[in-house]
Amino acid sequence: MAQMKQPMSVTEDGGQRFIGRDAQRMNILAGRIVSETVKTTLGPRGMDKMLVDSMGDVVITNDGATILKEMDIAHPAAKMIVEVAKTQDDEVGDGTTTAVVIAGELLKKSEILLDQNVHPTVVASGYKIAAEEADTILKKMAIKVDINDSDMLLKIANTAMTGKGAEKAKDTLGKLAVDAVKQVVEKVNGKWEVDTENIKIEKKVGGSVEDSTLIQGIIIDKERVHSGMPERINNAKIALLATAMEVKETETDAEIRITDPEMLQRFIEQEENMLKKMVDKIKSVGATVVFCQKGIDDLAQHYLAKDGILAVRRVKKSDMKALARATGARIATKIDDLEESDLGTAGLVDEKRISGDEMIFVEKCKDPKSVSLLLRGGTEHFIESVERALDDAVGVVASVIEDGTIVAGGGASDMELAKGLKDVADKYSGREQLAIKAFADALEVIPRTLAENAGLDPIDLLVELRSLHESNKKNFGIDVFTGKAVDMFEAGVIEPMRIKEQAIKSASESTIMILRIDDVIAASDLGHGAPPMGGPGMGGMGDMGDMGM
Ligand code: ADP
Ligand code: MG
Repeated sequence: MAQMKQPMSVTEDGGQRFIGRDAQRMNILAGRIVSETVKTTLGPRGMDKMLVDSMGDVVITNDGATILKEMDIAHPAAKMIVEVAKTQDDEVGDGTTTAVVIAGELLKKSEILLDQNVHPTVVASGYKIAAEEADTILKKMAIKVDINDSDMLLKIANTAMTGKGAEKAKDTLGKLAVDAVKQVVEKVNGKWEVDTENIKIEKKVGGSVEDSTLIQGIIIDKERVHSGMPERINNAKIALLATAMEVKETETDAEIRITDPEMLQRFIEQEENMLKKMVDKIKSVGATVVFCQKGIDDLAQHYLAKDGILAVRRVKKSDMKALARATGARIATKIDDLEESDLGTAGLVDEKRISGDEMIFVEKCKDPKSVSLLLRGGTEHFIESVERALDDAVGVVASVIEDGTIVAGGGASDMELAKGLKDVADKYSGREQLAIKAFADALEVIPRTLAENAGLDPIDLLVELRSLHESNKKNFGIDVFTGKAVDMFEAGVIEPMRIKEQAIKSASESTIMILRIDDVIAASDLGHGAPPMGGPGMGGMGDMGDMGM
């Protein structure tokens, strides 16, 4: 197909079309802009971003996944890079910035190859080979770790949390993450599995981070609906209701005409009876605790209290699910259908006062694999950053327990991979070899960016690292706090192998996908401010405001 200099309009008004090199340039640029946005946040000494949403709410973070989630990205190729971060977050729970930065660098290197007239198909196939070879090298280089090596797990958790605003209590939090994961791990068909859904994180402002605790069960940030209800129930039988304990307001707007006082009385009595019947039903199946997702009428509250039942209303749907899982209860959608077999059990349901607020603790649950982390801290913003750090820590500990393999952090594994790939490249010929080498070079973006973000000289450090790796110092990376090249295992900077494996996999897949597109046909404008096209060099990169970010 002939390459067009100008976008040609073949669609209706407002449509856009980009063909050939123009399409590639535009897509590569869009992807790179996303990557550049998060790049400055990589590593413990990365910078923070302040995100302000349309409601004026502020989040300050250096968490790649959070940044990309909050940004309203419209360009389709840019979205593909955001997808890389999402996949990383789902599959590993950490390494989102790493994955996106690698994708950006792969795109940058491919641009150079395209400029040298290497066909995009060749670049794509070279990248594919490189990604597979990288995976092989990575697996060979990974080190086995024992699930009982708590010391090692703690180091891994701490590496994930470094620089996330939780330094002060890193050891407390690291230990919480390791303990929580160890609680929920189970052996399925001879393999360790961790379902991180079982670890619920609950936040309460007040106290200090060191007061954060691990609870064997579920915490609900609500209080019992009536002060006449018991605060504490042992050996609780728990009913979960997805429906309100109220008499439905007349659904249509039909008026009820009350013509005489007796009729009013009857009407009220009828309502009272219905509420009484609901409570009786709950009592008859043997429930001693009720969690209701909707409202509970005042009168129903009164009857429940009289029967000594502890009830909580307007429980979040996600909490209902967690309760169902932990207590073995089935969520009932109709009170009439409630049966004894629907009830769940917990050794203790207890209302506790935390920083002046009541919270319900459901402990010693039927399923001991449900745990909660109660995070404490001075301010809302601080607790939120602690939560993100802890979430990453839980993710990495879980990955390591499941896979049992680790690599050295601080850019060490990336340098080693780059070296290995360069050796492999020599087995291939011509242009494919160029692409594999480009892929190898691209991986060096991690140590380079770690150095840059720490204000260190990336050029000198990279030269030093390359020569160290040449002389078989496989685990040498950058200690961003001292600025020296050190053995990262000795420095305790350790990551699950899965972080790198997944980052390389999704970064290369999305880059290849972008490279294979030679025609973009859009029904309308490609989102507010598609990136500037084919400007001189990458000069347009600074202009991020253009992406609607
Ligand atoms: P990501 O979203 O990719 O996890 P982070 O901002 O968490 O991004 O940075 C992770 C990178 O920081 C990894 O390459 C990791 O090895 C590195 N890192 C963590 N702690 C240290 C440290 N103390 N010294 C050097 N590098 C570190
Ligand atoms: Mg991280």
